[in-house]
Amino acid sequence: MALININLKSGTVDKERDIVVGIDLGTTNSLVAYIKDGQPVCVADTTGKNTLVPSVLHFDTVHTEGGIVVGDVAKEKLVTDPQNTIYSVKRLMGKSYKDVSGFENYFGYTIIDAPDEETLVKIRVRDTFYTPVELSSFILKELKTRIETTLGQPITKAVITVPAYFNDSQRQATRDAGKLAGLDVLRIVNEPTAAALAYGLDRNTEGGETIAVFDLGGGTFDISILQIQDGIFEVLSTHGDTFLGGDDFDRVLIDFWLKQQNIPNDLIFNDKEFGQTIRLAAEKAKKALSTEGVFETHVRGYNLTITREEFDILITLLVERTIESCKKALADAKLKTSDIQSVVMVGGSTRVPLVKKRVAEFFGKPVFDNINPDEVVALGAAIQADVLAGNQRDVLLIDITPLSLGIETVGGLMDVIIPRNSKIPTKAARQYTTSVDGQKNLKVAVYQGERDLVAHNRKLGEFVLRGIPPMPAGLPKIDIAFYLDADGILRVKAKELRSNVEQEVKMKSSYGLSDEEMAMMLIDSIQNAESDMRARALLEARNEANNVVLAAEKFIVQNTAILSDEEMALTKELTEKLRQTVAGDSKDAINAAMEELNTYTTPLAHRALDANIAEAMKGKPINAE
Ligand code: AMP
Repeated sequence: MALININLKSGTVDKERDIVVGIDLGTTNSLVAYIKDGQPVCVADTTGKNTLVPSVLHFDTVHTEGGIVVGDVAKEKLVTDPQNTIYSVKRLMGKSYKDVSGFENYFGYTIIDAPDEETLVKIRVRDTFYTPVELSSFILKELKTRIETTLGQPITKAVITVPAYFNDSQRQATRDAGKLAGLDVLRIVNEPTAAALAYGLDRNTEGGETIAVFDLGGGTFDISILQIQDGIFEVLSTHGDTFLGGDDFDRVLIDFWLKQQNIPNDLIFNDKEFGQTIRLAAEKAKKALSTEGVFETHVRGYNLTITREEFDILITLLVERTIESCKKALADAKLKTSDIQSVVMVGGSTRVPLVKKRVAEFFGKPVFDNINPDEVVALGAAIQADVLAGNQRDVLLIDITPLSLGIETVGGLMDVIIPRNSKIPTKAARQYTTSVDGQKNLKVAVYQGERDLVAHNRKLGEFVLRGIPPMPAGLPKIDIAFYLDADGILRVKAKELRSNVEQEVKMKSSYGLSDEEMAMMLIDSIQNAESDMRARALLEARNEANNVVLAAEKFIVQNTAILSDEEMALTKELTEKLRQTVAGDSKDAINAAMEELNTYTTPLAHRALDANIAEAMKGKPINAE
């Protein structure tokens, strides 16, 4: 089944081709590109110069959609209003609180602690709770507006890039953000693949080619080793450092100046304005040194200078860390540097001459660096988008699955296992668990479609996995695997991994659906994306709150000896308050009540844990040496 071209406005299947855009949704900056007169170009702002949109959002006191600004204006608020300015959302995509714990201080805004390991992070801005998907959708909306203004026509289809190491849930989160921004995401493409496409490396590959893509941005570093064969990209290995980039170059330079001028270290923290000024000066110096030999400036009467040689010494250790990653990526791919035919440079920090020199030296060949390293990923995404739009006749379209396939989870939510537009044949699996203590059977209901609630999707079938040994809720590990063959036959297998109980059924996907009906299902999902997202957020908040209420009740019963009467009463009161919000339909009220209960009980839980450990240790013999 080839790609269907849908007109979202009229709801019809288009015979004509339309514009599909390429989007680089970055940690620091985002860009949108398209094919103009046969060449990929990035869309600039009204000045016509700046193609980067800082991936920063600012929430004004007026809490409406209009109160949210994205880009350069928001970036300025990082200093003046950090609490309400959100950056680095990409680091949170598809992540649970546990994934980011330890890094909370890196984010200047409030990330909500979650009671369990699976719950995805939320960000609180004043009284509203946002998911990273929603926040990313605001950035995507900004890019959509930018290109629509430039082209004077609505844009509804896009290809979005993600790092090669993104897992399924991070990719799905990126798709969801696109949908929420009113975009039909035709494909999620790996950033290194996009960069290679921009250099046309898929075209000159008689007999295949192995390449390295070196991506050093503002805050992150990745190296990916790719194999290209007959236009198909395979990621052989990736390595990197999620906290290494140009910002670190700026930091070592600031430290150098502080020492050079005997400025006390804490001045940059105590005097925010001075901190910001010197930070900007450092970035300016760094950029200047990419083309010049020396830089000089004055900040608050201090004469700050630095030469290229001094700068190179300062950043040597940081650059060596990237080379160490390259070695590890090569080792994982079981390759030597001489096996790499091309090296592609991506990210603003690869403009630094020492970085280029060291990477070229390590791989023993000149690097590809003549395309703007900030734009190269978006330009490649635009090329991929154009291929999907059917505008490049020499590229073959592969078979794909036209609609997402998934199962129903608690509350009637659709959990996608195989996203639409996946190449077929394909297989994918996810793990689930039970929601009730001692649960012996699990109903697996399989659906097809793009809506968030299964009630709006198409049911393909259901079966029951029986004979799960009784265990507390959450303990069984149930693997649900989907195998979709080239004829659209879906085999679904459910297996409880602790007991090996399993069950398998076959069903026909897309059976009896016309192209028009499929198109309608897609259009529906995009038109209802916002209300679906609200419904999903409310259901998820309720599910999470129900678990928190259960845990709190258990906690009270188990710790009567440890809690004071007052603590007991307040815990009960906050639990009751949460229970009441669950009955209502405000996800923000539920989240706020949950946060309040968690904040109050966390120290009590720690104390209870200590007391229980002490109790358990009592009278235990300790071995003498
Ligand atoms: P990216 O995340 O790819 O947008 O990269 C942004 C990083 O590249 C920031 O740390 C910038 O300071 C850095 N950068 C941009 N231009 C230059 C330049 N000319 N020389 C050195 N670093 C640069």
